[in-house]
Amino acid sequence: MKQVYLDSAATTSVRPEVVEEMIKVLRDDYGNPSSTYSIGRHAKALIENARKIIAKQFNVSSSEIIFNSCGTEGNNWILRSAVRDLGVKRIISTKLEHHAVLNTIKQLNAEYGVEMVFLDIKETSEIDYEQLEQLLKEGDKPTLVSLMHVNNEVGTELDLKRVATMCQENDALFHCDTVQSVGKTRIDLAEIPVDFIVASAHKFHGPKGIGFAFIRKKNVLRPVMFGGEQEKGLRAGTEGTHQVVGMAKALEMAYELLDEERAHITSLKEYCSKRLVEVYPDVHFNGNKTGFYNILNVLLPLSEEKAAMMLFQLDMKGIAVSRGSACQSGSQKPSHVLSQFLCAEDLKKPSLRLSFSHENTKEDIDILIDVLKTI
Ligand code: PLP
Repeated sequence: MKQVYLDSAATTSVRPEVVEEMIKVLRDDYGNPSSTYSIGRHAKALIENARKIIAKQFNVSSSEIIFNSCGTEGNNWILRSAVRDLGVKRIISTKLEHHAVLNTIKQLNAEYGVEMVFLDIKETSEIDYEQLEQLLKEGDKPTLVSLMHVNNEVGTELDLKRVATMCQENDALFHCDTVQSVGKTRIDLAEIPVDFIVASAHKFHGPKGIGFAFIRKKNVLRPVMFGGEQEKGLRAGTEGTHQVVGMAKALEMAYELLDEERAHITSLKEYCSKRLVEVYPDVHFNGNKTGFYNILNVLLPLSEEKAAMMLFQLDMKGIAVSRGSACQSGSQKPSHVLSQFLCAEDLKKPSLRLSFSHENTKEDIDILIDVLKTI
């Protein structure tokens, strides 16, 4: 049975070229990057070279890139240190953020009493930029804005430059969770005055367990974990040289192949939307009409009984997709993202998140549609 993987927003396969580089490092370059003899120095050089490759993609200095384990870690570190070490007293965000951000903000509110302000969300799943500007102008507390670039469930894309400029003009810090957009769209940080971004290699066909944060030079963060001097003491612990090298290779390839792969994925998304409308003329696409090019969140006009079986049936046929809302199972809560802008009635209906990569084909979509037709 052909496996059809339509869940690339959850994670991606590792590119074969990345696997090869990683194997080479695992086999030959096992020295501890902190050791001063030759194989240690060599491992250190590999890490610094990877840092340069990554920094170049964003037009920043390599000293502004700090390696860590994942997007969750990067988000936690930045938000926590901004409150603890940079004197942030108010965080403006949304309830659409990934839990790595949302739960961290709630924790900081409980621990430090930092004020939390959540922006209104429009029916299109977008923020109200005027509301944000108003809040920035009227507040007198040191503020950090934390907004994701691309929403992982519905693909809503933030106007990064507009928010970054607004924050700069109003003396607020801006943290952007770019986990879903890094490697999928170009981000020129020399042009866009964002203070912090985070990335996770497994979202752009790199290995799991490795990520990085960009910390603009003027913002001096402190570590949350104490130990050795790795990553200038900001992230102690022996580096996984193979992970770092694999991540840099994956990012470099993602940007080399970006235009070609984006065109392919965009056409697949269009094809999938068209086929879904053929099968379900009443289908509704959740969120912003256009959305980011690799994510399609679809609300299917199915009865609750049919909906309950849908994910199971798709799985039985080798199709991997994510649920958009899980009301149908009874035991799970509806998606915290969809519940921000769908009405109660629509939240009861099944939603699917389909997310595509360069590896998908029209045949994958046809297989999905054929199974959906039988439900
Ligand atoms: N932020 C967003 C928008 C995500 O989609 C994810 C992962 O799904 C994360 C953060 C967490 O990343 P990681 O799995 O690397 O911890």
